[in-house]
Amino acid sequence: MRIVNLAGDLHLIRDGAAIDVHRASGGRFPSDPAAIYDVWDEFVLWAKDPGPVDGPPLDLTRAEAPSPRPRQVFGIGLNYRAHAAESGMPEPEYPPTFTKFPSCIAGPFDDIRLPSESVDWEVEVVVVIGRRAEAVSADDAWRFVAGITVGQDISERQVQMRPPVPQFSLGKSYPGFGPTGPILATPDEFDDPDNLELGCLINGEPMQLGRTSDLIFPVPALIEYLSGIVALLPGDLIFTGTPHGVGFGRTPARFLQPGDELTSFVTGVGNMRSRCVGVLSAV
Ligand code: ZN
Repeated sequence: MRIVNLAGDLHLIRDGAAIDVHRASGGRFPSDPAAIYDVWDEFVLWAKDPGPVDGPPLDLTRAEAPSPRPRQVFGIGLNYRAHAAESGMPEPEYPPTFTKFPSCIAGPFDDIRLPSESVDWEVEVVVVIGRRAEAVSADDAWRFVAGITVGQDISERQVQMRPPVPQFSLGKSYPGFGPTGPILATPDEFDDPDNLELGCLINGEPMQLGRTSDLIFPVPALIEYLSGIVALLPGDLIFTGTPHGVGFGRTPARFLQPGDELTSFVTGVGNMRSRCVGVLSAV
């Protein structure tokens, strides 16, 4: 199943059409995409047979974040070996975890406002939680996932690395620093949800390309680890980590510039396209 948030209204994608869920369900399900994850199991059952397909052709340019107001957003650092190496860090024993404060979540085609000259890209597979998860085992973990979307863990590196202790959560939470979308695809849409291809390009030039089969901590391991400490709530996001090829790991370092177009993809899920714009503000 594939769903999309079109200008604030939840739609089911079927046969190239966008079905308005609230209308097609006779009001049973909310139009607000943020509210669907609390009734996810019922919704999945209904969506198997939603009735006649009568929606307009799908227009993804109107897509917004599939889970627009998550209560919690987890980010995982150093989860690909080659990215740990380019960061000059050893492979972690446990998933290094931070939060992106939820106010940073944005849509797949929103502009990225650059508060400084050291804003970096990190394409990631983002998991959306579909059931409350506490102390879930890795074997059972995919059952707690509503679906997969594309994300960028946009990062202001000066704030992120500021001493005396790194400030990952702040440096990655400027407004618009969490673009996600354009659609959410359920795990059963993939032959193997633990082997997805992801990447990003700047102005058409490839920057990152990776596969989630290379994750040090795959999605089930992340859910086991996180849910053993924190209750994961429906609609929560997990940014699962970025492959190598980020800007600060390059020689010389490269950062996003006003006018850049950042295209990010997960194969089989879709593309996000973000235009970078400059803003004047002290870091
Ligand atoms: Zn990241």
